[in-house]
Amino acid sequence: MKILLIEDDLMIGQSLSQFLKGEGYAVNWCQNGKSGSEAIKVETYELVLLDLGLPDISGLEVLNNIRAAKIMTPVLILTARDAIDDRVAGLNAGADDYLVKPFALAELEARVRALLRRTTGHTNSILSNGEISLDTVSKILHFREAAFTLSAREYAVIYALMESPGKVWSRAQLEERLYGWQEEVESNAVEYHIHQLRKKLGTEAIINIRGLGYRVKKS
Ligand code: CA
Repeated sequence: MKILLIEDDLMIGQSLSQFLKGEGYAVNWCQNGKSGSEAIKVETYELVLLDLGLPDISGLEVLNNIRAAKIMTPVLILTARDAIDDRVAGLNAGADDYLVKPFALAELEARVRALLRRTTGHTNSILSNGEISLDTVSKILHFREAAFTLSAREYAVIYALMESPGKVWSRAQLEERLYGWQEEVESNAVEYHIHQLRKKLGTEAIINIRGLGYRVKKS
């Protein structure tokens, strides 16, 4: 899952990026509103985390730009405690949820998960195709009788595959889901993570379609 973070505060931006990466999200971070408004147009994101108090144009303006461009990516706004009018204006302008600063990282992640669930049409926190189930809260993977813990990248790969079982993901699409701007992608990274997952699941659960990519069985 790739998240666009638009936040000018260096400490908050760094801690959010680091935390989300550790949880298996790829993060692209913009430190002002104009670059954020541009970034959303050139890449696909599953979610935008938008600070409303930005140095150049306001977060509300960024939100208006996003929605005016007919981009329906869910937006979670981050606001100051006393900014009730901003929160209301944000929700009216098409934000999907908000968090008041300072917030607990665990709450942020729960809200991110809830928004992602809504947009992918899943009603609960387990992604399953009948054979593999992925618990998106504990991040534990169940396969047959066994349960596995995953690295952040392994989680990101299997999450993508399990989001829509049967859909084929190319290496490039998975890479885009896995890595943010600051991260260098090793050339065989996706194959490596697939290999690690296959060590847990055996070779049949993740299917390689030669020349096209990877998928899991349709439920
Ligand atoms: Ca700010």
